[in-house]
Amino acid sequence: MPNIPTEQWAQVIEKVGGPVEYKKIPVAKPGPGEVLVNIKYSGVCHTDLHAVNGDWPIPTKLPLVGGHEGAGIVVARGDDVTDDVCKIGEAVGVKWLNDSCLSCTFCQQADEPLCLTPKLSGYTVDGSFQQYAIASAKHVAHIPDGVPLDEVSPVLCAGITVYKGLKESGVRPGQSVAIVGAGGGLGSLAQQYAKAMGLKVIAIDSGEEKKSMSEKMGCDAFIDFAKSSDITKDVRAATNDGLGPHAVILVAVNEKPFQQAAEYVRPRGTVIVIGLPANAYIRAPVFESVLKMVRIQASYVGNRQDSAEALDFFARGLIHAPFKTVDLKDLPDVYEKMHKGQIAGRYVLKMPDPE
Ligand code: NAD
Ligand code: ZN
Repeated sequence: MPNIPTEQWAQVIEKVGGPVEYKKIPVAKPGPGEVLVNIKYSGVCHTDLHAVNGDWPIPTKLPLVGGHEGAGIVVARGDDVTDDVCKIGEAVGVKWLNDSCLSCTFCQQADEPLCLTPKLSGYTVDGSFQQYAIASAKHVAHIPDGVPLDEVSPVLCAGITVYKGLKESGVRPGQSVAIVGAGGGLGSLAQQYAKAMGLKVIAIDSGEEKKSMSEKMGCDAFIDFAKSSDITKDVRAATNDGLGPHAVILVAVNEKPFQQAAEYVRPRGTVIVIGLPANAYIRAPVFESVLKMVRIQASYVGNRQDSAEALDFFARGLIHAPFKTVDLKDLPDVYEKMHKGQIAGRYVLKMPDPE
């Protein structure tokens, strides 16, 4: 058995609005059906910042340890957890969906994220901004052998979510997709999954760093939303026949594009809503939407099968999105940059070495 300490470093908020405090807290013991994961790396998702800021209508637990892109090793498990579910020493991911009941009508249809009694990592239960996190043995993602835990950590939310969104859109190889918020964490991974799925990518975001990152990842066009005077015209012009992209994947953190996408999506096209800006509304002109038979659909993380598929794309070497690694203690700087929209790709936190 690995040596499990009784105390560990964590980033904790005591109240909505923060601050996040780097401090020592007790290590929890896994209960029935649970595993204890020694987190090695955790990506920082904009959802974590929404949680700190109290942006959403559902309250978080308090005090709260955020984080839901935790990659690590199983070090302990509840007495009832058997090897066929999860092994000690296995590399696993602690995802947003920490647990679901697996018996409600939604879980039975593999819509586990729609579970009526879910546990959400870094929101309703403590997440991955700590050295040892608890998760349901049946819900941890199984990380294939040989996969680097730092680079894979953003896949555990951002990757799974955009992969699922692309599947939900129904786009086929050879078609085009506009990714709105393409320079951020979800957006950069969406570009990679879209490429791997044989799609043409129109990346929409702002600034030279995000533009050159997107071009290096092989986008077919980059549109700077801050420089464009007519986004609808520019997005349509970026497609071969000028009719607009077959799908739009909305992963931006501002409301405006959620009210523009239906205008530039192609007739019969699909708008997939993923980003969750505070107090935002989706808007579409009824007349044009009807005459174009536009489909607008939301998409929320992914189920266990989506997670396994997204990780398999990564394990096959098809997904490489830029990330920067900093220490767990530097989380406040990451939030500061994220708030200012200054992160191209993802930041990944490295947990402190054992003392
Ligand atoms: P991020 O901060 O890394 O990236 C957001 C990007 O949006 C930034 O690059 C920013 O420049 C860009 N942006 C801002 N305004 C824009 C505009 N008008 N047009 C185009 N781009 C614009 O954030 P992230 O971690 O990628 O998360 C994105 C959003 O997705 C968050 O709201 C997060 O909570 C949400 N999310 C949803 C799900 C889900 O299941 N639906 C899962 C994970 C995250
Ligand atoms: Zn997330």
